[in-house]
Amino acid sequence: MNTTIKKGLIYDIQPFSIQDGPGIRTTVFLKGCPLRCPWCHSPESQEFHPQLCWISMRCTGCHTCISKCPNQAITVPFTKNSTESSPSLCQISINRGKCVNCGTCTQTCLPQALFLSGSEYTADQVLEIVQKDLPFYRTSGGGVTISGGEALSQPEFTLELLKALKTLNIHTAIDTTGFAGTEIIYQILPLTDLFLYDLKHMDSKIHKTITGVPNEQILNNARLIAASGGKLQIRIPLITGFNTDIYNLRAAAEFCRQIRQSITAIQLLPYHDLGNAKYPRLGRETNIFTTAPVTDECIRQCKEIFSSVKVPVTVH
Ligand code: SF4
Ligand code: SF4
Repeated sequence: MNTTIKKGLIYDIQPFSIQDGPGIRTTVFLKGCPLRCPWCHSPESQEFHPQLCWISMRCTGCHTCISKCPNQAITVPFTKNSTESSPSLCQISINRGKCVNCGTCTQTCLPQALFLSGSEYTADQVLEIVQKDLPFYRTSGGGVTISGGEALSQPEFTLELLKALKTLNIHTAIDTTGFAGTEIIYQILPLTDLFLYDLKHMDSKIHKTITGVPNEQILNNARLIAASGGKLQIRIPLITGFNTDIYNLRAAAEFCRQIRQSITAIQLLPYHDLGNAKYPRLGRETNIFTTAPVTDECIRQCKEIFSSVKVPVTVH
């Protein structure tokens, strides 16, 4: 197969995934997302460019990286115990205003405290990686899931990758917010065996206020996929105070009933804050989004409401 010149910006390729569609899968995470959900547990997925990450726990304070930065973006933090001639021996400080995410410093950091999130791959390069697990896909009914970020925000690459996967007859899934142009949906539909499809809120104004985008396009694309014979696994993040009220849940269930023939399952995803620790790695404030945990009673109520769709309802 000829190598396509179209490249995708990818921040992770995760083998042996069992949460992103049927069977054992490899999940390819594309970088960049047009939404800004405040509960996002993958902040490294949001921006459409590579980003320098620093995990302080790994940093030994060797300071090798400091002289390597062409922009003098890395310095020794000046603490109350340090002086001009005797700087603190503690770790480093990164001036994000000076950093251009070139990645030069990461090459000298032995403990990999510094690393770049986001690398370019061609579809053939991804295919070479994922096809190593072909036997697992075959025996488990698995395949490859293209996730994000938003997989459909890099439509040309996603299309190329889907085509490449289909040359090996690999089961394909797209994990998406659904926020994409209709023409993109039309292009990828014939190559996509399953859509893992988010429904965050049924009220467009609330959806826009919280995530940054309205939901009409998202709902229309879901209808389009259903009307075209595509398969959808609906994913509903349960966020207390945002979408767990009975009116929204009933509206979501009613929407699902309307496209029921295309839905293979509904997944309820109660919010967790495990991603909050990732924010400081990117130089961002610790995510201050907090919400009350989803209660057992809420989950019971959700399951009851969505049971009316008459498809399997699972909680993850
Ligand atoms: S980030 Fe890496 S190279 Fe820089 S001081 Fe820490 S361990 Fe050393
Ligand atoms: S990524 Fe480049 S600009 Fe940023 S701190 Fe490292 S070397 Fe400097």
